[in-house]
Amino acid sequence: MSGVQPATPAGPVESCFSCTVLTLYPDMFPGPLGHSLAGTALQAGLWSLAAYDIRQHGQGRHRTVDDTTAGGGAGMVLRADILAQAIDAASPADDPRPRLLMSPRGRPLTQARVRDLAAGPGAVIVCGRFEGVDERVIGARQLEEISIGDYILSGGEMAAMVLLDACIRLIPGVMGKEASGEDESFEHGLLEYPHYTRPRTWEGLEIPDILLSGDHQKIARWRRAQALHLTQTRRPDLLKR
Ligand code: SAH
Repeated sequence: MSGVQPATPAGPVESCFSCTVLTLYPDMFPGPLGHSLAGTALQAGLWSLAAYDIRQHGQGRHRTVDDTTAGGGAGMVLRADILAQAIDAASPADDPRPRLLMSPRGRPLTQARVRDLAAGPGAVIVCGRFEGVDERVIGARQLEEISIGDYILSGGEMAAMVLLDACIRLIPGVMGKEASGEDESFEHGLLEYPHYTRPRTWEGLEIPDILLSGDHQKIARWRRAQALHLTQTRRPDLLKR
């Protein structure tokens, strides 16, 4: 058993964004990332994914990877020695990719960090389970903790998928040229303006006249004003930043 399940067929293009995900549930991958934009890009070799099963470093007949919390309390903790073995096997010492640990205690993921990661060589992502991982392995293997929001998931897998999805759409060639993603919410510190499409009248509701005026300067001004207003009312914290 090699432990690494390449979820990517050998593509014609050398993939530029290479991801290794360490998990107790390798079968969850690529999951939703095998569909739509990310899935097409995976097939095309624009990014690659290897799901690495932490449990192959587990101990005993049951390949145990966790143990009770030191100091007492409910729940189990992923063992430092086992996780470190998995990390060392999945990612060589000179691996240039950042090592991330999905964790509710981490720095909240932002579009800026996503852009940063997407411009790099990929990532090695550790998915926690149970109560989390032994604190010592975080420092010893220099794992950067990243949170996807102030709520608790049952495991890091879906958080890793969220992070990867956000990065993959920014990889050159994944989205069309027209849709560079530069106009989206957060890219300019603002939420995005509202969108409309046909039909022109729906349930008595009209598309704002200005969007049909053909005056691109006016449209741009209107959109900016809408974005500002939305941000002010919904996310004033973004304006303060
Ligand atoms: N006891 C921990 C929560 C563990 S949840 C605490 O209170 O902080 C189990 C695993 O799910 C975590 O190790 C992490 O990998 C993942 N996880 C849960 N919530 C997350 C979030 N908001 N962002 C990223 N990962 C999360």
